[in-house]
Amino acid sequence: MLKLNDPALLRSQCYVDGSWIGEGVDAVDNPATGELLAKVPRFGANETTAAVEAASRAFKPWAKKSAKERSTILRKWFELIMANQEDLAQIMTAEQGKPLAEARGEVAYAASFVEFYAEEAKRIYGETIPSPFPNSRIIVQKQPVGVCAAITPWNFPAAMITRKCAPGLAAGCTFVVKPAPDTPLTALALVELAERAGFPKGVINVVTGDAAAIGGVMTSHPTVRFIGFTGSTPVGKLLMQQAASTVKKVGLELGGNAPFIVFDDADVDAAVQGAIAAKFRNMGQTCVCTNRLFVQEGIHDEFVAKFAGEVARMKVGNGVEVGVVQGPLINARAVEKVERHVADAVAGGAKVVTGGKRHALGRSFYEPTVLSGVTTKMLVTREETFGPVAPVYSFKNEDEVVALANDTPFGLAAYFYTRDLGRAFRVAEELEYGMVGINSAMLGTEVAPFGGVKESGLGREGSLHGIDEFVEMKYMLVGGL
Ligand code: NAD
Repeated sequence: MLKLNDPALLRSQCYVDGSWIGEGVDAVDNPATGELLAKVPRFGANETTAAVEAASRAFKPWAKKSAKERSTILRKWFELIMANQEDLAQIMTAEQGKPLAEARGEVAYAASFVEFYAEEAKRIYGETIPSPFPNSRIIVQKQPVGVCAAITPWNFPAAMITRKCAPGLAAGCTFVVKPAPDTPLTALALVELAERAGFPKGVINVVTGDAAAIGGVMTSHPTVRFIGFTGSTPVGKLLMQQAASTVKKVGLELGGNAPFIVFDDADVDAAVQGAIAAKFRNMGQTCVCTNRLFVQEGIHDEFVAKFAGEVARMKVGNGVEVGVVQGPLINARAVEKVERHVADAVAGGAKVVTGGKRHALGRSFYEPTVLSGVTTKMLVTREETFGPVAPVYSFKNEDEVVALANDTPFGLAAYFYTRDLGRAFRVAEELEYGMVGINSAMLGTEVAPFGGVKESGLGREGSLHGIDEFVEMKYMLVGGL
């Protein structure tokens, strides 16, 4: 049973126009235990249209508030999220499976966007431009785009919502949010706190239910001016196509296939620790997760031995238990995909160094796995595995590994370890990725622009640039002066 300090945070209805509505239909289960946590409404096109209309009515009054007023409410939301960090983490671990320490970390990460954009709300500056015309001035003002829609995945149930909503709300936009069906409870708890923080009705709305129907309205309703999506590349492409009919702004944070490169001159122990963090965070279900490990031949065997030793010691179990660092995968489909990828690699000649099968705990638990002798033809190379499997390749030189790393349609995150300063710049500049970790496996922070190139997405979330998605520039020429 989920025990919360504040049981009122466990909301199971949708939030539209300031009211909690809808009957529980779709089950939300705990992936570690199978326990039914709640049932949430199965909304479709009509309810989504009503939510868009509510957001539309709320838009002008919200946009007309002073930046300082919006900032104050955002700041209050940040404080409430942090005051309820433990309850939010408990809800997240229960529905998503990640260890409690990671869930607490994600709540703080989610809150950091709200704090950052509460501050930035006051700094959405315009420009004055020297006019080429006599007796005139040119002024550029930034205005909110309008009603925004957000569709988010299950792997970061809190942060993917605040990373979109916080900059948009700061700019004066209003929102309709559709969380992932596996993890709606974190989203609803966040919105309960938003209501307490004082957002006026209609400014944030959350709908759960039929993804295609909800997404259909979000992408076709003329009132929606921006759609922000985090999730898989195929769904992102579909939404982009759908949004074309009404020429909406689109922000896409899609899949990755992150390379993690270790050069002969690297600090091997630091690289092992970095690889553990970059591969196994959230059981490997992270868009910036290492999907392919390239280790230069001189240190390959040493690296694999040390890395596999650490991986074999990882404690797997229910994320609420002390010492557990690997929880269950999100659902049966996820573990089946991992099994398929490992079977394909083994059939192609890869060696299982550790792990390689479902965990004795059953359900969707999978053993943290290291594979060696992997080739570029295998599924683990071509697709995002999204699970606790680390395939290791051996490489000879810098040119070869940069070509291997770039040989993918994705371009989200890349990592490499070296102590050669010249190589650090050369390789970082050659990698076709939106984000590069050099001797570091930690990329997520609210102060830096997060996002990908190629088929990993469009636009950036976080940092000063995160606001750009949510504003339009208006150029005003003032003549007759
Ligand atoms: P998904 O694409 O299956 O689902 C994401 C969201 O889209 C969910 O809310 C889902 O219900 C919704 N959806 C599915 N079909 C839809 C449709 N036809 N219309 C409207 N909405 C629809 O992805 P997922 O499995 O939940 O998440 C994992 C994926 O997300 C991975 O590929 C991962 O790399 C990516 N991801 C990317 C980032 C990033 O910042 N780039 C961050 C986290 C996750």
